[in-house]
Amino acid sequence: MTTQLRSFAAGRWIESTGARTLLVNPATEETVAEIAAGGIDWAVALGAARTAGLAFSRLTFGERGAMLKAASKLLHGHRDELIGLAIANGGNTRGDAKFDIDGATGTLAAYADLGAQIGDVRFLVDGEGIQLTRSVRFYGQHIAVPRRGVAVHINAFNFPGWNMMEKAAVALLAGLPVVTKPATATAVVAHRIIEILIEGKVFPDGILTLCLGPVGDLLAHLDGQDCLAFTGSSDTGQEIRRHPTVIARSVRVNIEADSLNAAVLGPDAARDSEAYAQFVADVVRDMTQKTGQKCTAIRRVMVPADRLAEVAEDLSERLAGVRVGNPALEEVNMGPVATARQHSDVRAGIARLREEADVVFGGDGSVEALGVPAGKGFFVGPVLLKLREGAGTVVHAHEVFGPVATLVPFGGDALGAAALVARGQGCLVSSVYSDDRGFLGEMALELAPYNGRLFLGSSKLAGHAVGPGTVLPQLVHGGPGRAGGGEELGGARGLWFYLQRTAIAGDRPILDAVFGGPKPA
Ligand code: NAP
Repeated sequence: MTTQLRSFAAGRWIESTGARTLLVNPATEETVAEIAAGGIDWAVALGAARTAGLAFSRLTFGERGAMLKAASKLLHGHRDELIGLAIANGGNTRGDAKFDIDGATGTLAAYADLGAQIGDVRFLVDGEGIQLTRSVRFYGQHIAVPRRGVAVHINAFNFPGWNMMEKAAVALLAGLPVVTKPATATAVVAHRIIEILIEGKVFPDGILTLCLGPVGDLLAHLDGQDCLAFTGSSDTGQEIRRHPTVIARSVRVNIEADSLNAAVLGPDAARDSEAYAQFVADVVRDMTQKTGQKCTAIRRVMVPADRLAEVAEDLSERLAGVRVGNPALEEVNMGPVATARQHSDVRAGIARLREEADVVFGGDGSVEALGVPAGKGFFVGPVLLKLREGAGTVVHAHEVFGPVATLVPFGGDALGAAALVARGQGCLVSSVYSDDRGFLGEMALELAPYNGRLFLGSSKLAGHAVGPGTVLPQLVHGGPGRAGGGEELGGARGLWFYLQRTAIAGDRPILDAVFGGPKPA
């Protein structure tokens, strides 16, 4: 029997008679669940969340951190069940599914630790106090307190677990109730996570709201205390940003969007070096993990022109070992893309790249998938291309959200490579592989304005680091320009989106007595 997924708002599961959407297993195209959208009265639902949020915002960071810890433990106890759902509804291999689910529980645990570290205080102090005039009495201090609104989170289809929890963990620690809306196509995991948390009574009543299907008129009910964080395509991001209510009421908005992330091979990283091995492993992992559907995946591979042939050969050899098929099979190491729409978009994107690049590996992406009925499933094989001549146009402008990357030659100089990376107009992350400290340092300074995060790979780091594609709760996630201009996570930095910074001016002994609290962690 098909599982019926329901939204949860104002403390109850919503029965809706709205249009039904079928959610499928992207490997077999069998229906796995059904969503009946709509049925939420947002004026009522947001009112209930805001009321619950009032008491929640008056708890301490330490108290909310303890709830996050309980949430992480509870979900970890359901790990195998959630991994199974991610395989069935997301086209994930077991490894992909673990990445999503463990990413969710790991981020909750990291913010639980931060809550414990900040401790039993209700506000953060921002910087030292300042004497404002010649009088020693007149003193200023910046503090930050939870906003008295809701945190609305609209998420992308590729990480239904992690994407939801990397936003929720931060907002909940900051003290805001969360309204979460997963992408429809892969909502099964997100639905189950919220169901587990609600049944487990981890958070006070009213703190969690789940919206399945389209958001309806949700945005029209937001106000100036609310925060809206979005992950998805730039087109939807722009639509959200220009929503009349968002503009009129100065709703705080954070956008995480497309990104043409780059990897740069340093000219010194010889074929037999550890730095080079790390580069090859990271490119192949990013092309194939989650079938390339990672916002942080390497799309552009900058290679010194005289090294192109060897890089093409080594990457092709590794890609030849990728077994595409039903991710429920152990021998499969790359599943399908998540939806029929994704499938046609990726195939069309490969065709666009081929206008200016030659295929090195994988043809047009056609592939015979293992373990599925003939003609079923949204499969695309890994495709590696090589820019034909010039600097390219499509490769720097069009994100193909699948197992696809393009080799882009450069002259071997740091400034030349950096200029190519900059043509992507803003990335979530870029990586550089070299043992030349001068090259790494120059690249870091040149790339930083165009990237939210940089990964500097080198021989001594090999074996000690996760690659650039893994988002870590301690480091900021987000990027300028095309990447949405947003910033999430980054430990305590992520809290500030949900807090109101207020300057307090007054008599120093009073300020010291009231706000002589700890500095932000
Ligand atoms: P999308 O089509 O923009 O959808 C993203 C979310 O927005 C979904 O939950 C979608 O709901 C919802 N949505 C669509 N139209 C909306 C509207 N008018 N108002 C409010 N919500 C709306 O993007 P996607 O295809 O799921 O995700 C793929 C893209 O996300 C890629 O471009 C990728 O680069 C980007 N991404 C970025 C990051 C990052 O951190 N920067 C992370 C992951 C993915 P429905 O599913 O119900 O339509």
